[in-house]
Amino acid sequence: MAKVLISGGAGFIGSHIAEAYLASGFDVVVVDNLSTGKRENLPRGVTFYEGDITSLSDMEEIFFREKPDYVNHHAAQINLRRSTEEPLFDARVNILGSISLLELSVKYRVKKFIFASTGGAIYGEVKTLPAREDMPALPLSPYGVAKRSVELYLNYYHKVQGLDFVALRYGNVYGPRQDPRGEAGVVAIFISRIIKGEPCIIFGDGRKTRDYVYIEDIARANLLALSASGIYNLGTGKETSVLDLVEVLKKVSGEDFPVVFGEERKGEIDRIALSSEKAREALGWTPSFSLEEGIGHTWEWFKEAKQ
Ligand code: NAD
Repeated sequence: MAKVLISGGAGFIGSHIAEAYLASGFDVVVVDNLSTGKRENLPRGVTFYEGDITSLSDMEEIFFREKPDYVNHHAAQINLRRSTEEPLFDARVNILGSISLLELSVKYRVKKFIFASTGGAIYGEVKTLPAREDMPALPLSPYGVAKRSVELYLNYYHKVQGLDFVALRYGNVYGPRQDPRGEAGVVAIFISRIIKGEPCIIFGDGRKTRDYVYIEDIARANLLALSASGIYNLGTGKETSVLDLVEVLKKVSGEDFPVVFGEERKGEIDRIALSSEKAREALGWTPSFSLEEGIGHTWEWFKEAKQ
């Protein structure tokens, strides 16, 4: 049985990927420091190590013991605002932590390294949407700079050290288990506030757009990625504003919840949508959940989980 090591597998996206790999018959090993991830997110059947990707020696113990065929790297400092306030911390986790996993992947002859990059924060302000992979990546946050840096390291490890890789540039991923206490994840934050009867806060005028992609589509792409190489956007190609999102949430929840407008946040881009043409051609991937369907499933899950 092929074995995959998932970093960040106790987090939102990583835990869904762990489930998808398990369901496809993989041996799944997870490493996570539980900084934002939770033990209860871990699906039954995974081997779990509590550990920090920035510790090369701790990671080496895991590689030595488990000898994974594949590495799927999702552990990260994911808070964009924190990356601007603490760029050193962000780089330590997101760049140096990634390098320790890359070094070990070469040493232990990993067959492929899959990396969770970003489509939302890597391009900066784009003139022509949807953004394509061959457009310049000029990120406007240390978080985006770190993700782009790791892509460049991947290119080096591939060309010079022979490590095969896939970097997946996600849009705004949403779905069950996303942490509503975080800064990111507006869908989870809004749903959680609606359920608690609290108003949803929109920073700015609500016209900023993002490309929202449902978690199950992302988990499926991580399986398809096993037979591809290179950098791929994963999004719907559609721009959705925060105001659009509120409309969908009202329809799905059947609740006319209040909305409050707050001061616009600095350093956030105005618009983004991602072209996934390349992923369609190479991976056969297209998103299968519409925003309404995805939000419907997410709403049901949060209501059930009383989050
Ligand atoms: P998450 O916070 O739920 O998952 C990150 C996981 O990494 C958590 O379980 C956390 O405990 C773990 N972690 C953090 N620092 C660690 C460290 N030093 N050592 C070991 N584990 C550590 O967030 P998520 O939304 O599931 O994001 C997963 C990945 O996808 C991240 O790399 C993120 O940058 C990327 N991504 C997410 C989105 C999105 O919309 N959610 C978009 C683009 C890219």
